[in-house]
Amino acid sequence: MRIANYKGRATIVTEHGLYDLATCSSGAFSSSMDKVVNQIEKIQQWFANASAEVTDPTTDEELIGSADLGPVVEHPQQIFAIGLNYREHAAEMGLELPSVPMVFTKFVSSLAGPNVMLPIPGQTTDFEAELVVVFGKTGRDIPVESAFDYVAGYCVGEDYSERTVQMMGKTPQFAMGKSFKNFAPIGPWLTTHDEVGNPNDLGIRSVVNGRVFQDSNTEDMVFSVAELISYVSSVVEVRAGDIMFTGSPHGVGQGQTPKFFLEPGHVIETSIEKLGTIINQAVSQ
Ligand code: ZN
Repeated sequence: MRIANYKGRATIVTEHGLYDLATCSSGAFSSSMDKVVNQIEKIQQWFANASAEVTDPTTDEELIGSADLGPVVEHPQQIFAIGLNYREHAAEMGLELPSVPMVFTKFVSSLAGPNVMLPIPGQTTDFEAELVVVFGKTGRDIPVESAFDYVAGYCVGEDYSERTVQMMGKTPQFAMGKSFKNFAPIGPWLTTHDEVGNPNDLGIRSVVNGRVFQDSNTEDMVFSVAELISYVSSVVEVRAGDIMFTGSPHGVGQGQTPKFFLEPGHVIETSIEKLGTIINQAVSQ
């Protein structure tokens, strides 16, 4: 199942139209994505048995690029992000593979809908296509074997990064350089875990002004999605509605020769197999 935050309301997305969740369920489910993200199985059971009628004829394909889409969750309490989690990406950054997951945060105010404009805050703003996990359940000390019980679904994300700010200081702290306005767009919708299957077998790519920069597969991750969930939850309680950026494959602007950074006018298209595409246009700040 795919559920979007469409015009601010939880909406089931299909190839033949949209179903407003609260309307079709006569209020049995909330219109807020934040409130239904922990009820995915119930929604699936209800939808399979209900004879709901399309509330908006817009199709999934017509929604790509739409400004009517918001972030699949609006108020996560925590945004986790993982650095250097693809083998070839660590190599292009000239850094060693981590022996434990490298965890940082993007502050929640950087969260944005999938197709927002991206104000460019500096001369070294870069893109990072990422698979994003949306948590559907709260937990600590989650074993690898049961990690997917805590997943509501997945979406496409961009971990936009201002490299100069990211690497500033003697012991760089990534959070600031990763948290400018609209630096965490996610979408286009939530795709449930059962529909995705193995999250470590998905093509992932980013294209800027028609040029393919990143074209990889989530199987290149150093730590799998299940291992990341288990590791993060060994320290921090993960909560329903939280999200996790799982790292970016090789091909970012910083890894190019010469280096390539975003400028106003660039259009960044980020796609993941089975999950869809998000589109951002860089603009001056
Ligand atoms: Zn990243």
